[in-house]
Parts: sequence; structure tokens; C-alpha cells
Amino acid sequence: MSSYVDLLLAVKTADCLPILIGDPISGSLAAVHAGWKGTSDRIAQKTVERMAEQQAVDPRHLIAALGPSICGTCYEVGEEVANSLGRTASFLSKRESHPGKYLLDLPLANREQLMNAGVLPQNIHVSGACTFLEPALFFSYRRDGANPSLKTGRLLSVIGRAASLS
Ligand SMILES: [Zn+2]
Repeated sequence: MSSYVDLLLAVKTADCLPILIGDPISGSLAAVHAGWKGTSDRIAQKTVERMAEQQAVDPRHLIAALGPSICGTCYEVGEEVANSLGRTASFLSKRESHPGKYLLDLPLANREQLMNAGVLPQNIHVSGACTFLEPALFFSYRRDGANPSLKTGRLLSVIGRAASLS
């Protein structure tokens, strides 16, 4: 028996967090782009809630992968972003040496959202790689975006499912 690719979903990022979500039982898939805006809009949590409502997915079966993104010690954000996320959030820390600046941990924030939506912690896999710190491996908008002589590419994160030919 052979199989073919039935569906591929991809998300393009350069510092933002790519999140791939799959249900091995129903075959439902999602590819999510979570920067500070998406995180503030709770895109990861809403995606799982929608999969549960519209596709009868049980969140406890979902497997999620959080790919490389800018990390929680490199991602500095201002007052406005901090306010939209809720300043006391566990994934935000105040920079004492830089007044009005905060560090945002996108993987931590989105892991929390997935768990709020019912995804089990053992089913959430976090890459932990930092796009900003590894120029040989990853594109980074924060690192290269301001330099006009560099073309900032994007990281493509793909999730797919196969179907069998009978
Ligand atoms: Zn970093």
C-alpha cells in the first residue's frame, strides 16, 4: 500500500513563533503564526477552541510543536505591547536597566494558551532555538530586517497529513 500527501499547511516566520498543531485521530491540522499581536489576540488558544467546536477535536489528543522564534531573553518590547499582553503576565519581565522596556517570551505565552485550551503539557513540544542568536540557521527580522543590504528570508514551518491509496 502506498500513500500520498493529502494536505500540507505552512506558516512563514522570521522571529515570530510558528505553531503546528495536529490531531492524530481526526487528521485535523493547523499552522499558526504568533507574534506579539497574535499572542495578544490569543490566536493559539482560539485555534484549538475552533478545532474543538467545528471539527469535534478533543484537545487532549492534540500534538503541538512550537518552532524556532526569538527567545524570551532577546525579544524586547515597549510599554504598549506589554499593556496589550497584561503587564503582570508570567511571560513578560520588566527590564530594570531599560525603563519602559519588557522582555516577552513568546513560546512560554503560547504554551500557556494551548494548555488553557486543553492541550496536555506533555503533548506540547518546544524547540527552544532562538532565531535572533543563530544567524547560520535562521532568518531574523529583528537582526537583519533593518539592514537594507541583507534580504531577510523567512522560515517555513510545515505540517502535513498523508492518505493511503487503496
Ligand atoms: Zn534569544
